[in-house]
Amino acid sequence: MAELRVGGHRLTVDHDLCSGSGRCRDIAPDIFVVRDGRSWPAQDAHVTDADEDLLREAEAACPWFAISYARHDA
Ligand code: SF4
Repeated sequence: MAELRVGGHRLTVDHDLCSGSGRCRDIAPDIFVVRDGRSWPAQDAHVTDADEDLLREAEAACPWFAISYARHDA
């Protein structure tokens, strides 16, 4: 499991499900990196509230339901 928490956003990629297809990276190339056959949230990604729709799009587009995105408090 890879996780990124930044600015009130929590993004995870379940590596037991991810196939490395790269669809998430194609949708949000500044936020997802594909490495070693799996997608990783870039740990230096500058995620803002303006990225919420993009992240929800990536979550919905993942063919293996590997992405989980949510707002969180603190
Ligand atoms: S779209 Fe899903 S399966 Fe494809 S690389 Fe991203 S997380 Fe992995």
